Amino acid sequence: MAEIVVQNVRKTFGDFVAVSDSSFTVQDGEFFVLLGPSGCGKTTTLRMIAGLEVPTSGQIFLDGAEVSQTRPSERDIAFVFQMFALYPHMNVRKNIAYPLVSQGLSRAVVRAKVDEVAQILGIDHILDNPVSGLSGGDRQRVALGRAIVRNPKAFMMDEPLGALDAEFRESMAEELRSLHDRMGATTVYVTHDQLEAMQMGDKIIVMNHGVIEQFGTPQEIYDYPASLFVADFIGSPSMNFLPFQGTVRKGATQVLIDKHTIAIPELLEDADGELILGVRPEHVFLTKNSGLPAKVIATEYLGTSQIVTLETAKSEIKARIDADQCADTGGTVQLEFHSPAISIFNEASGRALQFDRGLMAG
Ligand code: ATP
Repeated sequence: MAEIVVQNVRKTFGDFVAVSDSSFTVQDGEFFVLLGPSGCGKTTTLRMIAGLEVPTSGQIFLDGAEVSQTRPSERDIAFVFQMFALYPHMNVRKNIAYPLVSQGLSRAVVRAKVDEVAQILGIDHILDNPVSGLSGGDRQRVALGRAIVRNPKAFMMDEPLGALDAEFRESMAEELRSLHDRMGATTVYVTHDQLEAMQMGDKIIVMNHGVIEQFGTPQEIYDYPASLFVADFIGSPSMNFLPFQGTVRKGATQVLIDKHTIAIPELLEDADGELILGVRPEHVFLTKNSGLPAKVIATEYLGTSQIVTLETAKSEIKARIDADQCADTGGTVQLEFHSPAISIFNEASGRALQFDRGLMAG
């Protein structure tokens, strides 16, 4: 068990800044996800926590003790990779037992610990099998077993499900999360898959170009993205963006877009210039009465809902509506938005404006 504190950590490779002044705390027992596109610095951050990479500057603390410069073996952190590197000439039992045998523990202790871990992972029936014939899922369970059996302070997992089929990934993600809930071990998990991050994480850090864009619970990040990047990266379909130009003042509760007034939560700051209103597809409603006029371009039936693509005077918008609601392609509708869920971004900085959302809750 461990609390991990990352303080102003920076990592450069020559002139290239891979991780730029990162600070965050992983609470003891948390399932903590580092999310972002390829090359954003997730793996480098993870490797610095594990001690496989030394920070250029900044500090890392494990349970209050500074470990920034200590060797990986002294940190007692287990690393699980995407490519489950098992020893092909050993059977499942020997693969899991390997870290304990290297520690010189007695045969009886090793056997008992391996049996216990295999039972937790549901692979006790294949302990004597060679690893060569195992399915991707079982290979990953064995790799996890080898990490768990050491009883480390924390787990670092780098895209551990990346090599599995999409269909199998989801059930393995559930299995991994439930394993975490039973064991309660601090886990830092790297993925570029936003659905996986939302499904598994207690907390998520969204990274882009080595910078932390946002840190929060999956719901905070989804509902109130701190930047255009996060709004676009999280959610499928992603948030709709309606650009507009103007000046908005602290205390405002509406904006004017395409000559239509759109209610917003109370603004807590002034802004002007190029602004962007953001609204998620499930917060766009098709009405026949009043609102922003739009043309229905296409509908995509998804069984439990449908995604309607619409065109307003200046933007393309997607709405998620009930599967049985009628939206005729080529027809004209009026759009209304669920005001408490609206975001506004400053286009130049990409930053979200601050709102008082308490007043409009619900
Ligand atoms: P991916 O999922 O593709 O691994 P990532 O978000 O984990 O992406 P990192 O592996 O942390 O990204 O890499 C961040 C950046 O740092 C990348 O541009 C990568 O090329 C660069 N980088 C990583 N390690 C080194 C290294 N040893 N030397 C030079 N550049 C490196």
